[in-house]
Amino acid sequence: MAEIDLQKIVSHCKEYGFIFPSSEIYDNLGAVYDYGPMGVELKNAIKEYWWKSMVQMNDNIVGIDSAIFMHPTTWKASGHVDSFSDPLIDNKDSKKRYRADVLLEEKIEKFKEKGLKELAKKGISETETDDVKAKASRDYNKGLILEAEYIKAAEAGDLKRYKELIEEYEIACEVSGSKNWTEVRQFNLMFATKLGSLEESATDLYLRPETAQGIFVNFLNVQKTSRMKIPFGIAQIGKAFRNEIVARQFIFRMREFEQMEMQFFVRPGTELEWFDKWKKIRLKWHLALGTASSNLRFHVHEKLAHYANAAEDIQFRFPIGFKELEGIHSRTDFDLTEHQKFSGKKLQYFDSELNQNYVPYVVETSIGLDRMFLRVMSESLKEEQLENGETRIVLNLPPALAPIKVAILPLVKKDGLPEKAKEIYNQLRFVGRTFYEEKDSIGKRYRRMDALGTPFCITVDHQTLEDNTVTIRERDSMNQERVHIDQIESIVRKQVDMNQLLQKAMI
Ligand code: ATP
Repeated sequence: MAEIDLQKIVSHCKEYGFIFPSSEIYDNLGAVYDYGPMGVELKNAIKEYWWKSMVQMNDNIVGIDSAIFMHPTTWKASGHVDSFSDPLIDNKDSKKRYRADVLLEEKIEKFKEKGLKELAKKGISETETDDVKAKASRDYNKGLILEAEYIKAAEAGDLKRYKELIEEYEIACEVSGSKNWTEVRQFNLMFATKLGSLEESATDLYLRPETAQGIFVNFLNVQKTSRMKIPFGIAQIGKAFRNEIVARQFIFRMREFEQMEMQFFVRPGTELEWFDKWKKIRLKWHLALGTASSNLRFHVHEKLAHYANAAEDIQFRFPIGFKELEGIHSRTDFDLTEHQKFSGKKLQYFDSELNQNYVPYVVETSIGLDRMFLRVMSESLKEEQLENGETRIVLNLPPALAPIKVAILPLVKKDGLPEKAKEIYNQLRFVGRTFYEEKDSIGKRYRRMDALGTPFCITVDHQTLEDNTVTIRERDSMNQERVHIDQIESIVRKQVDMNQLLQKAMI
C-alpha cells in the first residue's frame, strides 16, 4: 500500500468535498478552511463520538456551550494577555518567519533521532536511561545538552538566549539556507476586536484562544444547577482563534479551529492520580478507532505552562511526523484562583464529606477537532494496488464516522430499477445518511463511494425485481453478497452504530 503524504490528503479533501480553502475565489485566507458536504458529516461524527463518550457515558460529566466573546478581564486573569505568545524570528534573506522555539525543538529532535539510529546500530535499546544513551552517542548527547539549554532559556523567558542557541547550533532557514536572523520577539496570539458601535466607548475584546475559560467562569453555575459533586467534569466543543505565526500545515495549525475540551474538577492533592486516569481513558478512546498503537505515543512536556504541575500530549504519527493531537494537563487551581482574584467572586466548592471549602484542582483533556479530523483522514486514506493492476483510492473510515453510511445504486437507469432502488433508499435513510446514484457505470460508482469512505453499496438489479434480493458490497474487502432486502437494515445498522465505538472506548 502506498504511503499517503499531506499533499494527497489536501487534494483528496478538496476533490471530494471534505475541505476547501476559505474564500477560495479571492485566493484563499491563510490557515483558514471551510468544511464541505462530506467534511461536515465526518466532523459531526467525530464530535458525536467525543461528546457521547464524555457526557453520555459518564454520570459525572455535563456539557455546556459558552459564548466565544468573554469579558476582557477573563484573559487578563487567565494570563493570556501577558503570556499567550510565541517567540518569533525572521530570516533576513528569505523574509520567512519562524517560531524560535519550534526551530530549537526540531533541532533537538533531529539530534536525538540521529543518536537513536547510532544507538540501534550499536545494539543499545531506546529504553536505556539518558545517561547510557548520551555516553554511547555523541548526537544524542548533543540533543540533551541543547534541550537543557533550551529549557533554561524558556523558563527564564530569555529570548536573547534563543537567538544565541539558534546561531550556536547553526540552524539555517529552509528557504534561503542562510543563518542571517533577526532578533527574537514575542508575538501575542490573540485576535483583538471591539464591542460597541461608538469608537470612544467601545470595549476591547478578544476572540477566545481556548474554550476552557468559558468552563472556568461557569464553574459554580454548572456545579449548582446540575448538583454536581466533586470529582466532576464540564465538557465543551467550540471554536477557538489563534493568530498563529507559522500556519502552513493544512488543518493541523489553523487560525480558526475547533476544540473539544473537558475540565475535570477534583479535590486538591488528588490531581495527579486523576491525571493518570485521564491519560488512560483518552488513549483508549483513540485506540478504539482501530489505530495501530505504534501511531500514538505520549510526549511529556519539557517546559510546563505557568499553570500546570503535569502535562503530556498524545501525539499521533501524522504524515508530517509525530505531532501533538491532544493535551492532557493538570492545571492545578490556577484558573479558578485567578478568576476569584480578578472578579472578587468566590469560586469555591463545599465538600460535605470533608466539611471544608476549597478551590478545586483541575485536570483538562483538550483535543483539536480539526487535528482529529486530519488524523482520521491520514490513517484512512489508502491507495491500493488491485490484482488487475488498477489502483483503488479508498477511505477506510470507521463506519460509525463515515459521512455516507450506505449508497443505493440501480444497475441501470431503466426497467423499473430506479423506482425499486428509491424504495429501498427511503427505508434506509432512517439508519443514517443514505445516498442514491444512478449515473455512470457501476464500477465507477463503487470507486467514488470508496473514495468517500462509504462502508456499504447496495446494487439493485433485474433479479431484485423478481425475488427482492440485492447485492451488498463491503468497502474494505470489496466482497459482494446477495441478501434479501429485509436484511439490509440490520447489516448496515450493526456496522455503523456509534455504540460499538463507545463500547470499545470504555475503560
Ligand atoms: P501546539 O503546540 O501545536 O501549538 P498547543 O500546545 O498550543 O498546540 P493547546 O493549547 O494545548 O495546544 O490546545 C489543545 C489542542 O488544540 C491541541 O492539542 C490541538 O489539537 C488543538 N490546537 C491548538 N492550536 C491549534 C491550531 N492552531 N489549529 C488546530 N488545532 C489546534
